[in-house]
Order: sequence, then structure tokens, then C-alpha cells
Amino acid sequence: MREDPALAYRAAAQKLVDLSDDVSAERSYEAVADALSDLRVAVARVYGARRRQADGVGGARQRILRYLTAHRGEWVSGAELAAVSEIGEWARRIRELRVEEGYDVEENGGRYRLLSETPDSERRDRYRMVTKLRGSDESATDRIQELFDELVGKAVTADELDRVAHGRGGAGIARQIRDHELLPIESSADAPDLRTGEHRLVSAREVDRLHPSQRLFPEDLRRQVFARDRYMCRKCRRRHETVDSLGEVFYLVVKHLDATPNDVAGLPGDDLRRLSRLATSCNRCYASGL
Ligand SMILES: [Zn+2]
Repeated sequence: MREDPALAYRAAAQKLVDLSDDVSAERSYEAVADALSDLRVAVARVYGARRRQADGVGGARQRILRYLTAHRGEWVSGAELAAVSEIGEWARRIRELRVEEGYDVEENGGRYRLLSETPDSERRDRYRMVTKLRGSDESATDRIQELFDELVGKAVTADELDRVAHGRGGAGIARQIRDHELLPIESSADAPDLRTGEHRLVSAREVDRLHPSQRLFPEDLRRQVFARDRYMCRKCRRRHETVDSLGEVFYLVVKHLDATPNDVAGLPGDDLRRLSRLATSCNRCYASGL
């Protein structure tokens, strides 16, 4: 049977009164915070039905948002949110507020706090764009390519790729697009700032496409070569983070030391993959034959 919220209110209020001496002495912060949380839960339960009527058809998500907004900057417990929303799925609603609406809700040990009343519109718009692409009639490959086009120069997360791909396998499609279209799509193998599963289209311009020879060097091989060379071009000594001119397109490619880019395909497979004969180059040095 459900506890009488009015009794819970009295118990929590009494607890706070009992803690008065501790508060005066600036002691027992955790116990005070817990009692305060219990009090809020009780209040939310007592007035829940009345507030819901006043709210109209706001829904659980809106009730949670309103509660977090009223307590902006303060930590509120999951129990409070459950009482406010009267649903067990408040954690999911929090996730929706964060991901779908762009609200900055911080979490720490089962407590939550809203940092700003204004949602991050960029994050929200990005979520909506991904949702729209996901629903388009085009093929998965076309949808993923459009996703990269929308986010040129930005890291696309594994989750976004998979959402647009309608399941797992978004990263595999990104690799295929890289090989087929020769688009400079980086993964964590190519750029150390990308996390596992993230991909980034460096540039969508025709002139910045990969040299066809790069199809010969799969991701695992690139990862070995670039990591060994500390992601630095052997000729110009530049790395991602030291490219200073704004807007310059910079990405790493594998250079074979025994063949020109146009001849490298003629090498036997073993020679092609011999790490000691492979070097890290940047797109610009590679194109100018350095
Ligand atoms: Zn270079």
C-alpha cells in the first residue's frame, strides 16, 4: 500500500526541525539534504493531482522540466522527479530533455540539476536533423552521406550513424562511402581527437577527395602507421592540432616509400602492407609529390 503523503510530509518536516541544531552548527549536510528531498517528494505527491489538472495535458516530460526549472541550479533526487511526473520512466524523460530538446541537465549519483533554462538549440536542431534523415526514403548509404554533408568538419557520433542507418552498422557504411566516393572521412584511426566509433567528413569539396591509392590502406593499417608516426606528416611535420591557417583542409594519408601514388597499386600485397615502407603524409604534401 502506498504511504500517506501527508504523513511523509510530517515526518520529513519533523526531521528537518530535529536537525536544527546541526544546521546551526553547519553539520550533517547530507542528512539535511535528504530530509529536504523527502519533504519535496511529499509535497509533490500531496499536490500532484491538483497541479496536474492545472497543467492540463502537459505530460510527464513537461512536468519534470517545470520542476527542474523551478529548482534550477539545485540538485533534485530521482525520487522527487518520480513523484512529480508520477511515472517510473522519469530517467527516460530526462534523457529526452537532454538529447531531444537540448537541455543541460547534469547528473551526479542519482541526483539531477538543470544548469540553464534555455536549451542548447544547436544540439536540439542536430537531433531533429538526424531524426528527419532517419525517416527519409533514400537508401541507408545516401542517408549517411547526407548526414556527413550536413555536418562537414564535425565529429558524427556512432549513435547518430546507427540511428540514420536504422540499426547497427553505420560505421561500416561510413567506411564504404570513404572507399567508393573517396571522401576524406576520418575515424579514430586517422585523427586522435575522434573517439572510437566517431567519424568526420573533413571536406565535401571535389578537390579535397582522397587519392584512389588510399583504398589500398584499410583502417587497421592506417591506425598502425599514423599512431607510430604520432599523427604527424613526415615532410611538413604538421599534425591536426598544429594546422593554424583557418579553413585549410588537412588530413593524413599513407604514403608508400617505394612507389608514387599512381604506381603503388602495382606492388605485391606483402610489400604494400610492410609497415617499415609506409609513412604518414598529409593531403597537401601527398598531392605535391613530396
Ligand atoms: Zn605535409
